[in-house]
Amino acid sequence: MMRTTIIAGNWKMNKDHVEGAVLAREIKNGLRDKQLSCEIVLIPPFTTLSAVIDVVRGSDIRVGGQDLYCEDEGAYTGEISGSMLNSLGCTHVLVGHSERRHVIGEGGDLLAGKLRAALGAGLVPIFCVGEVLEDREAGRAADVVVGQLGEVLEGLGDEDIAKVEVAYEPVWAIGTGKTATPRDASEMHGVIRGKLGELFGEGIAGTTIVLYGGSVKPENAAAILDEPDIDGVLVGGASLDASSFLGIVSASL
Ligand code: PEP
Repeated sequence: MMRTTIIAGNWKMNKDHVEGAVLAREIKNGLRDKQLSCEIVLIPPFTTLSAVIDVVRGSDIRVGGQDLYCEDEGAYTGEISGSMLNSLGCTHVLVGHSERRHVIGEGGDLLAGKLRAALGAGLVPIFCVGEVLEDREAGRAADVVVGQLGEVLEGLGDEDIAKVEVAYEPVWAIGTGKTATPRDASEMHGVIRGKLGELFGEGIAGTTIVLYGGSVKPENAAAILDEPDIDGVLVGGASLDASSFLGIVSASL
């Protein structure tokens, strides 16, 4: 089965609802006459979601949340549920982005709950995994990534795992200007597919969409997307400017 190419832009804590509408419109206009073979997902902050959804309505651009809570409603001040994202018009949600893991301190149990909440709300979870520099230098990058996959995905049923997308984002490459070489990234994607195969069988290992993230730019996107195991990119910094985001989309064509 062909895996769809995904180009996702994680805006992080940038672009208020006015700036976000402008950026979304520039991206939508820039895509207008392109024959897209990939899926575009914009992932703005919560307060910008509505404005972006209004702008992209009627186009093929998808919108996702950057996070969700593991419960559906109730006394969880400050949190946002998957069903709230869904009813707004989101189709995707990030789970376990490295800034949630390492800045906010989210761990496996919470992320397992969030991933299941996303599925329960009908959203596609983009589940992020990746090692820190110390792990890579100590030669345990693959063990860390395999551990992150196991602690959150193990136990999912066939229907659920079929909806999950994975993003490999080495933490040392996020926002640093350093990228994994296409070969290193591809090697880890192979490790990820190996673990998916062990947990869920070869069918799932072959059909799961696995993205790469970490300082992707128009200049390096084509080489990364050329790797057969890499199905798309999750872009942070370079997604905040329409021309660089569109440059990455062009590299995928
Ligand atoms: C990200 O936020 O997921 C990311 C990969 O960031 P950047 O592209 O800025 O490294």
